[in-house]
Amino acid sequence: MSTPGTPAPVRTRIAPSPTGDPHVGTAYAALFNLAFARKHGGEFILRIEDTDRTRYVEGSEEQVFDTLRWLGFSWDQGPDVGGPAAPYRQSERLPTYREVAERLLADGHAYLCWCSSERLTQMRTRQQQLKMPTGYDRMCYGKTREERAELPGFTETPVIRMLVPDDARISFDDLIRGSITPPQPDDQVILKADGFPTYHLAVVVDDNAMGVTHVIRGEEWISSTAKHLLLYGWLGWTAPAYAHMPLLRNVDRSKISKRKNPAARLKWFQEEGYLPQALVNFLALMGYSMPDGREIFTFEEMTESFDFARVNPVGPVFDIDKLNWLNGHYLRTLDDEAFLAAAGPFLPAGLSPQDVRSLVVPLRERTKKLSELAEQLDWLAAETVTVAPADLAKHGLPAPDARTVLEAFAKNLEQLDPFEKDQITATLDRVVAESGLNRRRSFMTARLALVGKPVSPPLDDTMVALGAQRTAARLRQAAASLDG
Ligand code: GLU
Repeated sequence: MSTPGTPAPVRTRIAPSPTGDPHVGTAYAALFNLAFARKHGGEFILRIEDTDRTRYVEGSEEQVFDTLRWLGFSWDQGPDVGGPAAPYRQSERLPTYREVAERLLADGHAYLCWCSSERLTQMRTRQQQLKMPTGYDRMCYGKTREERAELPGFTETPVIRMLVPDDARISFDDLIRGSITPPQPDDQVILKADGFPTYHLAVVVDDNAMGVTHVIRGEEWISSTAKHLLLYGWLGWTAPAYAHMPLLRNVDRSKISKRKNPAARLKWFQEEGYLPQALVNFLALMGYSMPDGREIFTFEEMTESFDFARVNPVGPVFDIDKLNWLNGHYLRTLDDEAFLAAAGPFLPAGLSPQDVRSLVVPLRERTKKLSELAEQLDWLAAETVTVAPADLAKHGLPAPDARTVLEAFAKNLEQLDPFEKDQITATLDRVVAESGLNRRRSFMTARLALVGKPVSPPLDDTMVALGAQRTAARLRQAAASLDG
């Protein structure tokens, strides 16, 4: 407890729902909540919002922990680390919500509603047909159970609804957007027939119980904030400050959803081979700008400069080209060992990091995301490769010359001991000079023979990776396969 006059320590939180693969928005919210809390020496809480039992997916809570940890995020309180406000899963806090809902009933701020879902659907359809605002029509308000039971569309188990005054236009000062007045809320359900709270009740009860001082969440929750502020007022609790982050958007400016964009799934970034530090930098850039305008910065640097005035309220477009550029940058900052370790899971089947060690420099230079390695290195994992005549015609030498140079390369290279980069380069240069053939086309011919395509790491590195025997075998095999 803080002493009067001392400002409460900053405490932020995220409250993801365990409804499947974690959404990229969860990492985005975590990043900004964490940066703000750390900037002020405060705490960051992870709470699991599992009150919607119909959308619950087994195992998704662990996926949230794992992906957030992968990003380097940690939390001071949460279901897995405990804390003074435990439990941190809403399904374990049910008695608290019921108690608060009953208090609101007793104080006249809420009422019981026995309307069946069929009746509510009919009501909504009628309102839409008549172009009226949709919202609960208060059929149950002021009625006893017996009175209501006489009327159609009655169910046995009631829900509890907020009684929202007709003039409840509530304004608040958003830390990113300034003054906002969301639309008038309707009589929102706060406790469902199954005894679980709705989001609106649970979020207010928990943010209060956990001493959350700043709620930083997506802009889609702005209209809910009006309901939350009503509840705070009725319960006599101090409301937190609010900051509504811009929504991440697709290039067509629609909201990023798992249905439309694979990048909505946090795991997609792992699968594609993005580094966590690149994703953190990218998410930070989606809405945050550094005082000096630079685009490459770390979480710590963002935290140091953090200020809501630097958050742009306009929905940032999810620009994968920018992410690829950032990831390429972060890959190039890795030393050889770190790059090989990161590359390991993305190598074609049968290859180990050791097998590509000789290629680490060109790979690191050219790779934007690690999933590209499968295609970049398919030739190394393959038993054999074939030379397409069209490729040879376009990039290489005519068949008789190609055969000559491939055989000369093979003969000279297999005599090399040791089979190392410098000796290989010297041998290639000497053989081409002696042959009098076009240098670029000669090397291209060898490249096609070794990798089967016109793009590869430098020829000498490619040969070291293949080893003397496979290099000579591929050169000879290609020579033998040429017509004419
Ligand atoms: N469960 C909500 C979500 O998934 C939390 C919203 C909030 O932060 O209040 O985003």
